[in-house]
Amino acid sequence: MNAFTTHSEQRGELIPGETGGWEVIIGMEVHAQVASESKLFSGASTDFGGAPNTHVALLDAGLPGTLPVPNRKCVEQAIRTGLGLKAKINTWSRFDRKNYFYPDLPLGYQISQYKHPIVGEGKIEVRLDEETTIEVGIERLHLEQDAGKSIHDLDPTATYVDLNRAGVALMEIVSRPDMRSSKEAAAFMSTLREILRSLGTCGGDMEKGQMRADVNVSVRKPGGELGTRCEIKNVNSMTFIAQAVEYEARRQIEIIEGGGTIDQETRLFDAVKGETRSMRSKEEAHDYRYFPDPDLLPLQFEQAWVDEIAATLPELPSEKRARFQAEYGLSAYDAGVLTGDRETAAYYEEVASGRDAKLAANWVTQDLFGALNKAGIGLSESKVTAAHLGQLIGLIKDGTISGKIAKDVFEKSFETGEAPADIVEREGLRQMSDTGELEKVVDDLIAANPDQVEQVKAKPKALGWFVGQVMKATGGKANPQAVNEILKKKLELE
Ligand code: MN
Repeated sequence: MNAFTTHSEQRGELIPGETGGWEVIIGMEVHAQVASESKLFSGASTDFGGAPNTHVALLDAGLPGTLPVPNRKCVEQAIRTGLGLKAKINTWSRFDRKNYFYPDLPLGYQISQYKHPIVGEGKIEVRLDEETTIEVGIERLHLEQDAGKSIHDLDPTATYVDLNRAGVALMEIVSRPDMRSSKEAAAFMSTLREILRSLGTCGGDMEKGQMRADVNVSVRKPGGELGTRCEIKNVNSMTFIAQAVEYEARRQIEIIEGGGTIDQETRLFDAVKGETRSMRSKEEAHDYRYFPDPDLLPLQFEQAWVDEIAATLPELPSEKRARFQAEYGLSAYDAGVLTGDRETAAYYEEVASGRDAKLAANWVTQDLFGALNKAGIGLSESKVTAAHLGQLIGLIKDGTISGKIAKDVFEKSFETGEAPADIVEREGLRQMSDTGELEKVVDDLIAANPDQVEQVKAKPKALGWFVGQVMKATGGKANPQAVNEILKKKLELE
């Protein structure tokens, strides 16, 4: 892993314009749906795909006289996420009303957190490729309610509303403007998703809207003043994030180079056309008339609860990569491949347990993945279990079979799911280490090839020819080390 680059340093490729290269500056606000059974302030279900308006408590419908009650589970999930983002957990925070009118927001305001979020500053490591990792600062994480959904295409003259989502808990995670290319922006989102999923605090299913990114883009000349930014709302895939950044950066460069100025505004990304379009001019915080929600006490909890949650945190993907390198002596590349998902990592750890870890890595990343690719199936469908692959490696290491025979055994096991040890026994593939048997093969070869014998005596490096012949004669079963020793003795090379 290389050193982290900092905020002010220029990195990545500049975008060429008529007046020279431009740097793109990207920050993101990610809305991540909290994994919880019920909503942030009501007991209504958060299940996806229910019939319209079936998961709606009176509070979610904005009926007068109802009061919000914070959902402990949602608060716990926010703390857990904050810990995973190496962020400061604020044991005192506050809910505010963010006032605006949407037909699918019956309260007329969103309960959110403004000045006092539950989670403060943190950071995440974002891996761009095998060699490069950048650090992206997290400014804050706050809890807020989601809105419902307006449905415009059911009737030519009316709009329907589905409040199933209204009041579902969201974590709004705000990054620092630390990203410098579309690739970095997409990698940030994908790393964040990976972290939230491994923490179990968000399902991360972007097609179900469980994670959406508001992408802030501006351009500047390297080292110059920050430009005016535009915010692209609700981008819901890594590809779209990258496309939106590319399009938006070029659009801004063209305007500035044409003598114009950038209006700070909110834009939407049209995935079909691959372009961003103006939605509305950007609101300022004061437009929302934030004020503390009088229906809710400040949110206060003990540090001991935070510590309890911290004790249950799983190993994060970046930590696992570092451990695989340190504990198993793997290259950054192999560690990256093997920790790509939880299933692969667990499979590898079982194969490597008590065995040659590098050999295990080679077998998993090359032989197994190669075979899976070729068969067009995933690891979960592999007939070769981790226990079987481990057994195969054990058979190589204790000299029962040669590495070459092991490849054949693997192929058979991959086809049938039979244990490698059984295949070796049934097909008589044990390596020949019996000296008497091997000596006879060697004697026959020496007698039949006097010219080669002369050559080897003149140039001992030519011994490989004899080793090859012994292998051929024994169907690859001879133990190469034993063969070498016998040959050297018989040809008096020692
Ligand atoms: Mn928000």
